[in-house]
Amino acid sequence: MGDTDNEKTALVTGANKGIGFAIARGLGKLGFTVIVGARDDGRRDEAVGRLQDEGIDAWGVRLDVTSDYSVTEAAATVEQSIDRLDVLVNNAGISGRMGGGGQDPSTLDLDVVRTVLDTNVFGVARVTNALLPLVRRAAPPRFVNMSSSMGSLTLQEGPISAAYGPSKTMLNSLTVQYARQLADTNVIINVACPGYVATDFTGHNAPRTPEQGARAAIRLATLPDDGPRGRFFNEDGELPW
Ligand code: NAP
Repeated sequence: MGDTDNEKTALVTGANKGIGFAIARGLGKLGFTVIVGARDDGRRDEAVGRLQDEGIDAWGVRLDVTSDYSVTEAAATVEQSIDRLDVLVNNAGISGRMGGGGQDPSTLDLDVVRTVLDTNVFGVARVTNALLPLVRRAAPPRFVNMSSSMGSLTLQEGPISAAYGPSKTMLNSLTVQYARQLADTNVIINVACPGYVATDFTGHNAPRTPEQGARAAIRLATLPDDGPRGRFFNEDGELPW
């Protein structure tokens, strides 16, 4: 848990499994100290153990992105341990209930929308704002927000999902607003799309591995200092909003 000048630290939310775990693992293999942000103590400890078994410098912090209290506590814990945070990957996300017309616009369950927004959008703002002071001490810091091509108004991909799709559209827009506000600073902030990845999220019924899904986020987390800002990428290149 050291914090020397050359040692870089990355916090990944929802890093106990799936794409988030693969991002943490990939950044750890690149030499980052990784902080596993996860809401469940057992799942978090197990993920940290798996990373440490691979020789990665990893530790965990309790983090529920839907809870102001949890996010504030997590930021305080991180700040007690390190002087700066080089990378924040806002990966935690949910689809919301998909069956029973819950995400057809004509029968939309607004409670599903609220729940999805609370995690996928408000959660990102909560975590970003709580950690921004610590991240801004890095030179230069990198933020990656995990979105989806399902949030692209141009591509209109995937199943109809009137809660999940718009949540990622709003996350994309929110990221652009951060990039605009931070344009005169050294903060590099972008959006990643992992592709269609076999995780619990997709019932493991998708063609890409979590490692493949992690690639775009890892690339954006390690951009050069003059890298792009406020843009949307998958592994193959830039995506349209
Ligand atoms: P996953 O396997 O279901 O993992 C989601 C992660 O988010 C888990 O660690 C989960 O923790 C965490 N999480 C959910 N709600 C949370 C909360 N309130 N506080 C903290 N952590 C929370 O999903 P995934 O496929 O890896 O997806 C990761 C990200 O990629 C999501 O943002 C998703 O929208 C995006 N994405 C995925 C795909 C895909 O094909 N899989 C495609 C496009 C975009 P628990 O274990 O505690 O539930």
